[in-house]
Formats: sequence, structure tokens, C-alpha cells
Amino acid sequence: MAKLKNKDSQIAKLIDLELERQKTSLEMIPSENHSSPAVREALGSILTDKYAEGYPGKRYYAGLKYYDILEDICRERAKKLFKVVHANVQPYSGSPANAAVYMSVCEPGDTIMGLALPMGGHLTHGWKVNFSAKFFKAVQYGVDEKTSLINYDEVEKLAKENNPKLIFVGATAYPRIFDWKRLGEIADSVNAYLCADVAHIAGLVAGGAHPSPVPHVHLVSTTTHKTLRGPRGALIMVTEKGVKKDPELPKKVDKSVFPGLQGGPHENAIAGIAVCLKEATAPAFKKYANQVVKNAKALAEELKRYGFNLVSGGTDNHLILVDLRNKNIGGPEAQDLLENAGITINKNSIPYDPAPPFKPSGIRMGTPALTSRGMKETEMKKIAGWINEVISNPKSVKKVREEIKKFCKKFPLPK
Ligand SMILES: *Cc1c(COP(=O)(O)O)cnc(C)c1O
Repeated sequence: MAKLKNKDSQIAKLIDLELERQKTSLEMIPSENHSSPAVREALGSILTDKYAEGYPGKRYYAGLKYYDILEDICRERAKKLFKVVHANVQPYSGSPANAAVYMSVCEPGDTIMGLALPMGGHLTHGWKVNFSAKFFKAVQYGVDEKTSLINYDEVEKLAKENNPKLIFVGATAYPRIFDWKRLGEIADSVNAYLCADVAHIAGLVAGGAHPSPVPHVHLVSTTTHKTLRGPRGALIMVTEKGVKKDPELPKKVDKSVFPGLQGGPHENAIAGIAVCLKEATAPAFKKYANQVVKNAKALAEELKRYGFNLVSGGTDNHLILVDLRNKNIGGPEAQDLLENAGITINKNSIPYDPAPPFKPSGIRMGTPALTSRGMKETEMKKIAGWINEVISNPKSVKKVREEIKKFCKKFPLPK
């Protein structure tokens, strides 16, 4: 960063400090990861300079011959990796991508369905403060109070009662596998579009560590910066089932991204996405995705041994939701203590949380970033020990901080 240091030492310094923080602490927020330097080279390239409104072969600006090739490569890689018939790679991030999904198949005022935010859903799936509830009639389903699994019977009942135009399925704090087949049947029974928002699990799906929704849904939306390990960005994909239901669907998706919602795409991000999609096609990525899940399971088992209550009793994917109510500590306090010790997790509501959303009873953690640094089951056991030590004895924070700093030296950030 020699040039940046020279021109703007204040910003360069902050980046240096953040690099040091990442190197010396354990990143366990399940929606985060460490992108590869190759991805960041593409992201930081001169491709950020161009306007490229439109799509390959039909642009509104000149000078775009290389951008057409680039965007075509990116689209083809997405199609091949996820086995879909159409991919739009232009959405700026996950939330705008979901806005485009709504715009593709709904009119304002239509009924939509999604998993409620406090049950592990995402804001854009119809939560009351979000555009998705302001512009559409949002019906929210939840998880079963006993099992913490998506209440598929409730989804079916609500779908039959409300006849939604679109059903969203996806989550930010759901540790189990989705029953795509059942969801597909429910959507078909009311002639609704079904969109799988795989933002959290895209890397697991790509690497074969979570079943793919593709055979059962019409649309797939995803961010590219979570388990997929790319730059901040998003994809909207149309499946074969989607085209069967509506041959115009690919066109509708493209039109709602541009000119419906966005202007010029971030071609530097699209280059970064293309690189991460190539990385995700390599055999090493299958191993990575499976190791993410193995690590989460190992971490979950060890936490249970220390008496932690896990929502749904464990995990099938990359994340763990801990109900702290038996530990005499709230989510925010646990988050702060762990941060001071060098473990970055986040406070999170648990299903049917009696506490308010800003002071929830739970914490959420995951293994994607740790696994990108090469950690395995043995390391997860050690980390569970540290989490237990800090939460049961806040005085140990300083000691644990030093141990983690030393430990992190053995696991450099991805090269
Ligand atoms: C992260 C996430 C999003 C939103 O992505 P942003 O890039 O933060 O806008 C949407 N849906 C789900 C399920 C997510 O996990």
C-alpha cells in the first residue's frame, strides 16, 4: 500500500490496524470470511473506472469490449457452478438482489412470504421495518418452538390461506438443512414463485456440503462474500424449473436489476466474483466446504460438553446459535467479553427470545473464516475451551487474549 500510505496515511493506518486485528483474532461471525488476495486484486483493479450500464452485447456506453467478455465469463461460471440456466451478476449486494427478485415477479401490494427475522430470517424477507414489508403484504412464518426447525406445516397453512405471489426461503441464523423438496411442493401447490436465498450457505451448496435448492426452486439469490469467499456482491439465478414456470423469468430478472433498480454495475466486483467462482470450482473448495461443516459440528459438540444450550441441539451447516439463558449472561455481554479476548462472534436473538432484539439472549458463531485459515477439528476444541473459559470466568479475558494471539500466528490469513 505504498501509494496509499503516501497520499492518505490516515486511511492507510486504519487498514493496517484492521489487518493486524484480523491476523491476531478469531473471526467467527458466520456471515464473514477471508477473501483470497486474487479476489482482492481483481476488486482493487482499474475495472472500477468504467461505466457499463446494460448487459454484454447491449450496453449504453462505449469502450466496453473487455467488460462484455468479463461479465460473460462470470455469468457462465455461476451457471456452471450452481447448475442454473441464467445468472445475473450485477446486484451490488444481497439486499438489492432481493429487491430485484421482488420486482421481477411481484407488483407493489402483492402478498409475499418469508421467515421472520427473530426466527433467523433476513430483513429483506418481509420484516416490518424493511422495504419488503412496506411495499408488499408480508406474511411471516417461523420455526417450531420445540425443535427450532422451520415449521413446514405452518408454511403450508399460511401459503394456502394467503396465496402469496412469492415465497422466500433463506436465513441468517438457521443451523439446520432446508427441506427444499417440501418447500418446492408447497410453492407449487399455490402456484407461487419460490426463491432460495442461499447467501449464508452458497459456498456449502457449491462445495456439496449442503443440498442444492436448484431442482426445487424457481429463483436463487445469494451474496458472494459469505461462505462463497468472494468480494461483496450478489447473484440472482434462474433455474430450469423457473424457466418452465415462466419463460420470461431471466429477462424479468435482468430488467429489474437494470434499469429497474440499479445504474452502472460494479465491474471490478464482477471481476472479483468471477475469480471466486473459479476458486469455488476447484477440488480444494469441496474440501473447504466440507471442513467448514465438520468444524462447526466439532465446535458444537465441544460447546455442549461445557453445558452450552444450542438452538436445535447442534448444527448441520456452518453456524451455531447459542441460547445463553442457563449461563447467567446476556448476548451483548458475551459478545463484548469474547471480543476483548480476541474472538469475534455476534449477539443474536434466539427463536421465541423473551429479551428485546438489541439485548438478545443468544450469540451466533460460525466456522467459514477459521476454516479459510486452515483450522480443523482440533483447533475447534481449543476454541470452544476458550469460549467457555471467558464466559464462565470473565477474569480470564487477558490471559486468553494472549493465548489466542500466539495461536493465530500458526494460522496465517489465506494467501
Ligand atoms: C447477508 C444476507 C443478505 C443481505 O446481504 P447484504 O449484502 O448484507 O445486503 C440477504 N439474505 C440473507 C439470507 C443474508 O444472509
